[in-house]
Amino acid sequence: MGTKKENNLSFLLTTALGVFLVFLVIALGVSFYFAISGAQLDSRKVFLNKQTELAGRELEVEIERFEEDVESLMGFLEDEDLDEEDYRKDLTTVARKVVNNYPGLIDTIWVSFPDSSIFFTMTDRNDFLRQPFYGDVKSKYLENAGVYEKNSHGMEVVFGLNLGGFTKQFVENYYLNSEGGKFLLIGNQLTNLTPSISNEEIRFDESTLSAIKNDVALGLKGMYELNWTTESGLVDGVLVQYPFDFGEILENASLLFFIETEQLSSGVYNTYLWLFFVLTLLLLGTIVFFIFSLRNNLNAQKQLERNSKEISELFDQQNLLLKELKGFVYFHNHKGEITRVSDEVVDILGSPKDVFLKAFSPDSTHKDVINLKKRVYQALSTKTSFLDFEYDYVRPDGKKIRVKIFEKLVFDELGRFNGGLGICTDITVQFQASQQLIVSENRLRTVLENIPDVIFIYDNLGNVIGFHVKEKIPGWDESSLGKNISILLPPDQKEETIQAFDLARKTGKIQTVNRKLDLPTGTRYFEIRYFPLDENRMMSLAKDITSQKIWEKGLMEAMDAADEASRAKSEFLANMSHEIRTPMNGLLGIIDLLELTDLDPDQKQYLEIIKNSGNSLLGIIKDILDYSKIEAGKMEINNASGKPAEELEKQIQLFYGLAQKKHLKINTEIDPQAFEVFETDFDKINQVILNLVGNAVKFTPMGGTVDISMEVEKIEDDLYYLKTSVKDSGIGIPEELIPSLTDPFFQVESSSTRSFQGTGLGLAIAKRIVELMGGELVISSVLGEGSMFSFSVLLKKVKVDALSGVLKSADERVNWFGMAKEYPLKLLLAEDNDLNLQLMKLMLDQLGYSFDEARNGLEALEMVIKNDYDLVLMDVQMPVMNGLEATKKIREKPSKKKLFIIGLSANVFDEDQKKALESGMDDYLTKPIRLISLAKKIELFYHRKHQNQYSEKPS
Ligand code: ADP
Repeated sequence: MGTKKENNLSFLLTTALGVFLVFLVIALGVSFYFAISGAQLDSRKVFLNKQTELAGRELEVEIERFEEDVESLMGFLEDEDLDEEDYRKDLTTVARKVVNNYPGLIDTIWVSFPDSSIFFTMTDRNDFLRQPFYGDVKSKYLENAGVYEKNSHGMEVVFGLNLGGFTKQFVENYYLNSEGGKFLLIGNQLTNLTPSISNEEIRFDESTLSAIKNDVALGLKGMYELNWTTESGLVDGVLVQYPFDFGEILENASLLFFIETEQLSSGVYNTYLWLFFVLTLLLLGTIVFFIFSLRNNLNAQKQLERNSKEISELFDQQNLLLKELKGFVYFHNHKGEITRVSDEVVDILGSPKDVFLKAFSPDSTHKDVINLKKRVYQALSTKTSFLDFEYDYVRPDGKKIRVKIFEKLVFDELGRFNGGLGICTDITVQFQASQQLIVSENRLRTVLENIPDVIFIYDNLGNVIGFHVKEKIPGWDESSLGKNISILLPPDQKEETIQAFDLARKTGKIQTVNRKLDLPTGTRYFEIRYFPLDENRMMSLAKDITSQKIWEKGLMEAMDAADEASRAKSEFLANMSHEIRTPMNGLLGIIDLLELTDLDPDQKQYLEIIKNSGNSLLGIIKDILDYSKIEAGKMEINNASGKPAEELEKQIQLFYGLAQKKHLKINTEIDPQAFEVFETDFDKINQVILNLVGNAVKFTPMGGTVDISMEVEKIEDDLYYLKTSVKDSGIGIPEELIPSLTDPFFQVESSSTRSFQGTGLGLAIAKRIVELMGGELVISSVLGEGSMFSFSVLLKKVKVDALSGVLKSADERVNWFGMAKEYPLKLLLAEDNDLNLQLMKLMLDQLGYSFDEARNGLEALEMVIKNDYDLVLMDVQMPVMNGLEATKKIREKPSKKKLFIIGLSANVFDEDQKKALESGMDDYLTKPIRLISLAKKIELFYHRKHQNQYSEKPS
């Protein structure tokens, strides 16, 4: 990362440098341009000056020459030797010569003789004319100051000169510049000498013009920066003035040469600007190229850095590898002398490098060296190009190591042996490990050979690729090699076997199946485990469990027998409790009735004791019966809707009196959710709560506390757990006895010294009920400090709108005497037992009902057919025809379909109730029949009857 930043920085720096250079070059170029153009301007000005001066001088020389020619003409005129005719002829020749010598200068030549005048002129067509002349000669040219006169011997020669025209022609040879101009100044008169400019075109600024005129008047030459007006506007320029004389003809004339400033510098601009521009471009190009190449360079450098890093990493890794490998590298020549060996030789072989080198000298006697050389010769003779072998080496320090040699033999192009390049590594650790592996493999083999199980090894498709069978089993031998698992077992077990095999392969978990083989020697049972051996192989271990099976079978039989015995015991208990309940029924019924008679206080107290004893005896019988039912698997769960919290509170209320007596504090903590409506078997839950709270109150001494809590916990959807716990500050239970509490008939105190009453069945029943309802009973206790009993049961939440009419408030009526007046019904009682009959009669009398009697089912049937009863109270167990059968028969009569029949029985099993309802009974009362429950039932059926009547009435 650091290098990358540096590279970027240098790249930026270079670019900045480039930009700076470009600006520098531009600045240099501009100043260079100005310097050059200034110099150029000056030299052009000098040139302009020179040209003007030269033109003026040469003009003067020319005019001087002209004057000399005129002098010679005059000389000719004075020559007296010539006759008239020749003279005239020669004069013409000389005149023409002069005219021709100064083209454009002479317009006319007049010659006045004393007696006559002639003139010479050149026509427009270049014909030289000589003609006599009359009149005034000079007037035409005087204005132009272009007159030159010479007098001699009475002759007068006058030259009419065109000085402007001559000068114009003369200065044409002086090159200025296409845009320059030339003027002739004579006095105030400016004559344009430039053919390309019309006279009107240029107007110099007046101040400069007058300065020029002043200089001319003083005979001073000069150079002027000025401006003038042309058609295209105001122009800056440089003007050079050179004063001169046209000989004697005219003085104070001046030549004016001028050039526009722009023109003066224009060439410079073109030449240098382009040069500058091209140079700048070149420079830019160079810089861009430079930047690009720099960037490429940087990239290349980065790449190089990466490469070199990779290489060095690789090198390090290799070094590490070699170190890790614990090896060294060596070279030897064709004579077997070591030429190079890496430093690690010291670490590996334990002898210094020079000792190692010496050991390979031609006359070496070292046994390992001789051995190595022997191997090289061997390889050479068999035309093998490498050596690969291991051997044990004893280091000078006595340590024995295992080394591995790998050597590549090297040959030149002609195939001659050149030497060898080898690696020697210390493989002691691996060697030892492999030795151990061999040992453990041998051990494994021994184990395998001693395993009685049949072992098969398969490929992943289930084809047998190996096996181990201790004992000969037909079909499980060499012949199974290559066969598929699907044919190793009887066809009917094939599918399940393949399934287990595939599942084991897929999940990697052992799959166990039990298999039965019918062999000639008899039926054999195997437990076969399938599991993956590695990625490509599966294994099965088939264990012969025939003897175990036989033993299990025996055990099963024994267990069945035990179960049978237990069932028999439960049934015995159930029957016995039933048998006890029947007389108890009578007893308690009579006590109820007795209570209603006039009794003195003593009698009342005795009756109270009898009643309590009867009730607790009934409780014991009920417990035994419940437990027997559970043991016999006959306990059923009857779900109903209700609010767990309300049910709990009702149960707790039952203990308030007792708690008050013992000065116990009962605290409750109830989850608000428990006040919602749930569906469960509340009777069973109440039974458990009753037992736990009862125990807590029973085993907590005066002034203690009982804490009861209830909580509802959601499991999923509408499924909940109801968690209830009862905690007391009572006597506690020794820790080691806690697990036994739920055993039937178990009590902490031994029976002989018992200070608490009870059967020892409560917790046993509670535990089984809770478990039956999907929960568990947890007991914790500290001896002397208190106990806590918690249980959980499954609940189902009930949607509130599904509830209407389900929950009816309990009828709190207490006084049922004479209820027959309020709820008149015609009754039939079918009962064979005299005691029961007597009891029922007493009860019904109390309620104010009279009734008909039947002593068996058949009688009842006949009476029902004959009479029109509202309600039949039918004992289930009766001679001749039992209650169930009689009910069935009654129901067969169409008119008796709606007659209310209530079964009466000491059988409390749900099954019995079910049977009763199936036979067609509307309800069921268990003996001992208590007055209140009988009254409530009669009231219920009275209401039903009237409901039916209303609904039967056509509206
Ligand atoms: P029991 O009818 O004898 O109460 P249980 O099965 O309900 O039968 O209880 C068995 C025994 O467990 C009791 O006799 C008593 O020794 C012990 N036990 C039950 N609950 C408590 C408690 N809250 N504190 C102390 N001991 C208890």
